[in-house]
Amino acid sequence: MNKKHAPEFSYLYYEQILSSIKINFDTCLFSQALQVLKNKHDKPVIFLRHDIDLDLEKAMVVANIENRYNIKSCYMIMTKCPFYSLQDESSKSILKDLIQMGNEIGLHFDFTNSAERERNTVISDIEKHISNECEILENVISQKVKSISFHRPLQQFLRGPLEVTDRINAYSSELMKWYLSDSKGVWREGEPIQFLENPQKPLLQLLTHPIWWGNEHQTPNDRLQSFFENKTQNLSQELVKKFDEAMSSHLSIYRSKKTE
Ligand SMILES: [Zn+2]
Repeated sequence: MNKKHAPEFSYLYYEQILSSIKINFDTCLFSQALQVLKNKHDKPVIFLRHDIDLDLEKAMVVANIENRYNIKSCYMIMTKCPFYSLQDESSKSILKDLIQMGNEIGLHFDFTNSAERERNTVISDIEKHISNECEILENVISQKVKSISFHRPLQQFLRGPLEVTDRINAYSSELMKWYLSDSKGVWREGEPIQFLENPQKPLLQLLTHPIWWGNEHQTPNDRLQSFFENKTQNLSQELVKKFDEAMSSHLSIYRSKKTE
């Protein structure tokens, strides 16, 4: 097949991903996972997931594109993100719109402090913490949170149990048998459309981070640079410094003009 693909990480390319999903897969939400895993399917199934690490507004852009393809997906939301607040009316309105479009809202869980992250934590140690975070999100969206994903998951969290606190764990072994992700703005396995056009396994989980996407292709470092410039333009020097530090500790990748 001699198809020309748009540059990766442009919305045009994302639309090509969606077109390919439409043709080759049945789309499912994590809330349906128990049923989906039990049943036999004619077509391979896909769980489409978005981890919202930085920018809730970009989640809405992606959702609007998906909506044109009548594709529903799972948006994993942080409760204590340094870059968006669930208490803002604008955030509440985005979450409401995402739900109205038929999407699922899950928890994107992060540790509260880096010491916690460094400990040899296993999932069962943090179940209470996860439940509490889900409750915070549930209070905002006025419905049950049925799925979770981990922000920068510890190695021992990968391929864990299917359910954690009675919610579907996106990092469960059942849902990770075939997994494609744009983590750090790179498709580690190579560009995804080649795999979507020729599914080799019955169940795929595809993870994207809307922060890496835009009208034009950009490197992830440049995306972070744009995000930084956009969000700090009206801040005092002191707040800019704090914002910068928060970005560096939140992600394992830096904006392009960060020198130290
Ligand atoms: Zn994350």
